[in-house]
Amino acid sequence: YISKLPNVGTTIFTVMSALAKKHNAVNLSQGFPDFESDKKLIYLVTKAMNTGYNHYAPMRGLLELKETIAKKFDTLYGTTYHPEKEITITAGATQAISTIITTFINRHDEVIIFQPAYDSYQPMVELNGGTVIPVQLKVTNNFKVNWNDVGTKINDKTKMIIINSPHNPTGSVLSKEDMQNLEALTRETSIIILSDEVYEHMIFDELEHQSACLFPDLKSRTFVVASFCKTFHNTGWRLGYCCAPKDLMNEFVKVHQYSVFGIHHPTQKGIADYMQNPEHYLGLSDFYQERRDYFLDLIKESRFKFTPAKGTYFQLLDYSEITDEHDVDLAKIWTMEKKIASIPLSVFNANGLDDKVLRFCFAKKDDTLKRAADILNAI
Ligand code: PMP
Ligand code: GLN
Repeated sequence: YISKLPNVGTTIFTVMSALAKKHNAVNLSQGFPDFESDKKLIYLVTKAMNTGYNHYAPMRGLLELKETIAKKFDTLYGTTYHPEKEITITAGATQAISTIITTFINRHDEVIIFQPAYDSYQPMVELNGGTVIPVQLKVTNNFKVNWNDVGTKINDKTKMIIINSPHNPTGSVLSKEDMQNLEALTRETSIIILSDEVYEHMIFDELEHQSACLFPDLKSRTFVVASFCKTFHNTGWRLGYCCAPKDLMNEFVKVHQYSVFGIHHPTQKGIADYMQNPEHYLGLSDFYQERRDYFLDLIKESRFKFTPAKGTYFQLLDYSEITDEHDVDLAKIWTMEKKIASIPLSVFNANGLDDKVLRFCFAKKDDTLKRAADILNAI
């Protein structure tokens, strides 16, 4: 056979988590909490299993859950998505992203991606014959987007722009002005926006999440992608969703129905019941800001340089004053020798740009963050 992805290996998340396990290192690499989901939610999912939610769920998702999501958009963002026509439940954000790209990207279509970029975007574009047009975000500029630069990359072949705010791996967020710039640049085009908003409920320091759905012209061309796995501390449940205007969604479900058909049914019912209480997700920013501040306070005397993350549960640490080792090598060496695992930033840059920065996940218990900080302070 001829590989369709000849340059792709195993994801860095799998590699680093396996290495952490093998060497018994504190694992702040792959992004997942080391605490359990709320017992009440687990009870509601098992209750659904015991009350008949065990056969195929509707192909686009359980109506009750989609109605709850529509209500959330209305309350939080004052915008309407039709629960039956404009919302689909997916197997995590990962499947939403891969299906959106598969649905719309043809050979030689161009997709603008801001890098460092979450690792699934580029392979999915390439698998579908598209070309990634990268826009580099710079650590020296706090990863701010230069919209003039973006403007120079838009042309007749531009089919899609992928944005991600709050941003993995940098923890930066897009402002209202950023979104207005994107809207102005793409007005009167048919460029599809894939807006990866999986960290929408983890945004700090009084900042407000600027969902693409808040900007009417953008909304008319946007897929908003979200994940329950992030919000409810159960990354293994693989449940997410996407929202888009009905014509775009109709195309999406043509592919969705033949890639997964429907998603795990009892989990959809359990989450629909759980989300009746919005406090279950509205408190998340405060919760993670407290985690971030606890971690950063512990390492404030260390030799790492950092700017506090504005969102997500990731913190970048700049090690340039400690060593000039390549970040991928360093992440592995420190996992094996210092017993602390992180993710090297350069793997999110297709050009391999190495800014001497590592990403640490702070979705961890006090004790785990304390053990990590003790190691980092001794480096
Ligand atoms: N997008 C981003 C930016 C992510 O960080 C992640 C998960 N780490 C995903 C998408 C995938 O989310 P899920 O686990 O729901 O598939
Ligand atoms: N999104 C998670 C992270 O950034 C990992 C997801 C995965 O392992 N595929 O760490």
